[in-house]
Amino acid sequence: MRIKIVAGNWKMNKSHSEAIELVQKIMASDYDNSVQLIVFPPSIYASEIAKITSSSATALGIQNCSEYDSGAYTGQLSASMIRSMNVKYVLVGHSEIREYFNEQNKTLASKINQLITNDLTPIYCCGEVLQEREKGNHFNLVKSQIEEGLFHLDENQIAKCVIAYEPVWAIGTGVTASSSQAQEMHHFIRSLLAEKYSENVAGSISILYGGSCNPENSQELFANPDIDGGLIGGASLNAVDFIAIANSFS
Ligand code: PEP
Repeated sequence: MRIKIVAGNWKMNKSHSEAIELVQKIMASDYDNSVQLIVFPPSIYASEIAKITSSSATALGIQNCSEYDSGAYTGQLSASMIRSMNVKYVLVGHSEIREYFNEQNKTLASKINQLITNDLTPIYCCGEVLQEREKGNHFNLVKSQIEEGLFHLDENQIAKCVIAYEPVWAIGTGVTASSSQAQEMHHFIRSLLAEKYSENVAGSISILYGGSCNPENSQELFANPDIDGGLIGGASLNAVDFIAIANSFS
């Protein structure tokens, strides 16, 4: 059985007090406890939020990490530093970082190695821009992101990863992939995993959908057999919406 996950990527939003208030509201809410909730606040608040979440089932994640061990990399956070904060999840390859910082699959593969070595769970993001979908190249593009970012891992290592399919044209745009478009790509990703590793491994990896997911569309998306939850941006900034999404598995 793979785990259902609803993860909130707060990006570069919320003041210190707003961040604390948001995590407290989430923790005080009633939600389906078979769902793993994860919050990804701005890193500067992580240490304080770690203290708040430590006594709860809500997990803390970090939005990015360095591909290097340590040293003169101003502004970066290493996987071992993250590990020392009792964090479990780290986002890798979010489309905003791929795009604005020209991050390549090869770099992402190094980040994945750092995380696996430090016993952290990567949530590896993949997804096509609109032009690639319009050209009919979206499956090829996602295949190369998965192969180049993850397929150097062995069977035990890949089993520790979570994948998030986030079509770039749906992120922050209010345009969601239809339930069938999302399921089709999730099924494709799972079949790549089955081909490279085994049906068993493929069946154990959670694949999340991200891209304008909200309380109005989450139920239909999460009802699909290959969609194991969501990576939520905008709607995770509001505790009521975030919890409504977490409560929308059938
Ligand atoms: C995201 O940035 O990962 C995301 C899914 O954002 P939004 O939900 O706002 O589209």
